[in-house]
Amino acid sequence: MRFEYSPAPESRSVVRLRDSYGLFIGGSFVAGSSAFKTISPATEEVLAEVTHAGPEDVDRAVAAARQAYERVWSAMPGRERGKYLFRIARIIQERARELAVLESMDNGKPIRESRDVDVPLAAAHFFYHAGWADKLGYAGFGPSPRPLGVVGQVIPWNFPLLMLAWKVAPALACGNTVVLKPAETTPLTALLFAEICQQADLPPGVVNIVTGDGATGQAVVAHPGVDKVAFTGSTAVGKEIARACAVSGKRVTLELGGKAANVVFDDAPADQAVEGIVNGIFFNQGHVCCAGSRLLVQESVADEVLAALRRRMGTLRLGDPLDKNTDVGAINSRAQLDKISELAGSGEAEGAARWSAPCPLPDRGFWFPPTVFTEVSQAHRIAREEIFGPVLSVLTFRTPAEAVEKANNTPYGLSAGVWTEKGSLILWMASRLRAGVVWANTFNRFDPSSPFGGYKESGFGREGGRHGLEAYLDVVGGGDV
Ligand code: NDP
Repeated sequence: MRFEYSPAPESRSVVRLRDSYGLFIGGSFVAGSSAFKTISPATEEVLAEVTHAGPEDVDRAVAAARQAYERVWSAMPGRERGKYLFRIARIIQERARELAVLESMDNGKPIRESRDVDVPLAAAHFFYHAGWADKLGYAGFGPSPRPLGVVGQVIPWNFPLLMLAWKVAPALACGNTVVLKPAETTPLTALLFAEICQQADLPPGVVNIVTGDGATGQAVVAHPGVDKVAFTGSTAVGKEIARACAVSGKRVTLELGGKAANVVFDDAPADQAVEGIVNGIFFNQGHVCCAGSRLLVQESVADEVLAALRRRMGTLRLGDPLDKNTDVGAINSRAQLDKISELAGSGEAEGAARWSAPCPLPDRGFWFPPTVFTEVSQAHRIAREEIFGPVLSVLTFRTPAEAVEKANNTPYGLSAGVWTEKGSLILWMASRLRAGVVWANTFNRFDPSSPFGGYKESGFGREGGRHGLEAYLDVVGGGDV
């Protein structure tokens, strides 16, 4: 049954957009060389003009971060650093509605997700790392492990504020200073975060935010004053960065793409599994590196599960990201929409059967309906390449061994899901799946205390938890052990 809902848009009045934003360097907003516009992907309206940081601007940001590192932050006792992180976390909570509305405007994701997932998790990362700041000597890396210095961080557009929190919170807790570049299409919550740093009286230069495009990211990564690079984004750019860092000897962590298998066994509770499949691939329009984009369903229940999945997909509401009833928002950019359309087209051309939920698409903006492909073979591009959109490819299997073989048949290794009533089967699968995270009877669950990261072409290094601290500490040098 389909329920009709009246529109329930969240008010935009809580957000005070400026016409133009400078770069956040040394604790202030400063002018840069040129500018570009950021738009709402749901309406294509221009939201603001943002500064494009050139190499000389990146230079200034790195110099500010170096000065703050040497004069203030690295020398500050952990318990004092922790207070700043705690204050930032509280301000994120206080300004949660503003952050959520702004994120949905700039990114296109449903307000339900930015309000209930992105922003609370971002605050949780700062709270969690505030707790670590004065306990680093107990993290298992020696009695007083040292920070690395200036960290260059480049983040993508799918979880703009949350990825910022994943990067900035551990770096600061460990005593490093930061130059962060947000994605070109989603700079606004990072710039609001800069205001939050001012509000928290964070010492100038501890966090610097340089907006721009890929060239700005390249300048951050290549800068000789940057001691460590942390990147989340595509595998192609990740490989470039790995090469650049290999020759410079910089420390690097990479969180890259994925093609996760969501494996449903015949004894799994079907309704629950269908919710998990929907959450796995349609959460955030499928713009999720760990999305469950390959459904592996046991052959004996495939028809039943697919019928239930199509029924459920028929109830998804696509549209205005600011409407509290919206399940599926806008695709983040025209370029991403073109990429999704091209890959979906290849699925049909290669012989897979396409079914899209019958939801009307708005006239303006970038939209793609929730789509499922059946009759998919492992050779198809839609079974191998990261689509990064609301497109699910379905494969079947007969035995657990076949499920493992198919699930691992990918160059990626970020996440996987297993749906079964049998605990022994969950453990058997989890020990064989080559994935950094394996969810059992759930999907897309995140917690700051739980390490996240990949194998193979999904990157290396972990973010979150005790393991995530290692990336921001001079562990190779052994600290003060
Ligand atoms: P990119 O990897 O290009 O972008 C990620 C970040 O890196 C952005 O801030 C980007 O800047 C920056 N960047 C781009 N080129 C360079 C470079 N040479 N050196 C340093 N930084 C750089 O991803 P896209 O946004 O182009 O998306 C392309 C595809 O990547 C998607 O279709 C998706 O498949 C995948 N992707 C995967 C993500 C994941 O989390 N696994 C996240 C995002 C994308 P700018 O935005 O200004 O270009």
